[in-house]
Amino acid sequence: MTQSTSSEWIARSLRSVWHPCTQMQHHEEVPLIAVSHGKGPWLYDYDGKRYLDGISSWWVNLFGHANPRINAALKDQLDKLEHAMLAGFTHAPVVELAERLSKLTGHALGHATFASDGASAVEIAMKMSFHAWRNAGKPAKQEFVCLQGSYHGETIGALSVTDVPLFKDAYGPLLRASHVVSAPDARNAGEGETAQDVARRAILEVKELFEQRGDNIAAIIVEPLVQCATGMAMYDPLYLKLLRDLCDQHHVHLIADEIAVGCGRTGTFFACEQASIWPDFMCLSKGISGGYLPLSLVLTRDDIYQAFYSEDITRGFLHSHSYTGNPLACRAALATLDIFEEDDVLNRNRELATKMTIALAPLAEHERARHFRQRGMIFAFDAIEPDKDRASTFSRRFFSTAVENELLLRPIGRTVYLMPPYVLDDEDVAGLAARTIKTFESVIAA
Ligand SMILES: *Cc1c(COP(=O)(O)O)cnc(C)c1O
Repeated sequence: MTQSTSSEWIARSLRSVWHPCTQMQHHEEVPLIAVSHGKGPWLYDYDGKRYLDGISSWWVNLFGHANPRINAALKDQLDKLEHAMLAGFTHAPVVELAERLSKLTGHALGHATFASDGASAVEIAMKMSFHAWRNAGKPAKQEFVCLQGSYHGETIGALSVTDVPLFKDAYGPLLRASHVVSAPDARNAGEGETAQDVARRAILEVKELFEQRGDNIAAIIVEPLVQCATGMAMYDPLYLKLLRDLCDQHHVHLIADEIAVGCGRTGTFFACEQASIWPDFMCLSKGISGGYLPLSLVLTRDDIYQAFYSEDITRGFLHSHSYTGNPLACRAALATLDIFEEDDVLNRNRELATKMTIALAPLAEHERARHFRQRGMIFAFDAIEPDKDRASTFSRRFFSTAVENELLLRPIGRTVYLMPPYVLDDEDVAGLAARTIKTFESVIAA
């Protein structure tokens, strides 16, 4: 059997695969990378080149590629049950996962609804919120609120609560309008203002909106603590606390989209814990399966579950997907939760994050970088690129240069961020920081 080279796979991919989030013509200049295998934080191509996965393969991988413990769990599951439908049937992995996640919320969120992609979880939360109000005799509550710069996925419903023009504008006519309120982005602090001041200022807008439209609003959806896709905009937990109070006062559901920030990414297992609140709906995906298989879910308060419990089939939540609760995906998630417990991951990550922050200090102080920020295992800064043309190509140039330096980083606009897997050793930390600094220096100097 002859081994295909990277260039052969790339050519075949460009002929047959429509890649996500990509203007395909850009691949006339920026080559694809054909991954042959992965190990720990590294990805390898067919020519033997390697890349340090500084963004956890789009924020999903927590414990490295080809993790032996997750692999073993999946191989065991494979010989027992690959899949069975979840309507009328159940199985151990889905039950155990729902129980363990509920326990992690102190049983504040008692039931889990399963799907496969993050966007589907957002759709479920939105439909459930509306339907719960309808079942409660308040069918007028049909509007949704999101934050400036929010990202909740690419399906029609999720896109309607997304505020990223690049992803949204082309489909504007297809989308239902939602209310967009100011983000509490700590970078908006004026002279002498703290992140908490920004949070207090931003919440006033929500208060005003709820006072005017509360009877028509079903839910507000937020990405707790870090709005990742808009460029790692971070904000103070106080905002979530104040938001929870307002939602209670005005009978508006709070949907926490923890798809990116959950699973330890911000330092606590759920980002909401840092505000000592629980939402009415919590969406999880990405890291929940350790980066192995498509899995998403919505955790819901039991009073909402009860609002659907009835003799009447139309009061039930009839939403479904074919692969709902897939046993392999759930087993990968259980193995992921096992690692969190066995390795005391949240505590170990605190040390790891400190080491990363120290290693990245030259960027925090760099004259061409501003707003260096960190929360848990997310690190970001904004490049200063005064030239307009160079600013617009910054991300692509950075990506290409990073690849030359054995590094996978993919800036969002001029925001360079690192969101590495939680398995970096000291050598990886030093290598990741050195490669990032070297890449940044050559991109701004070029
Ligand atoms: C990635 C993401 C989604 C969408 O998840 P997909 O699996 O890509 O559909 C939704 N919300 C947030 C906050 C995300 O980061």
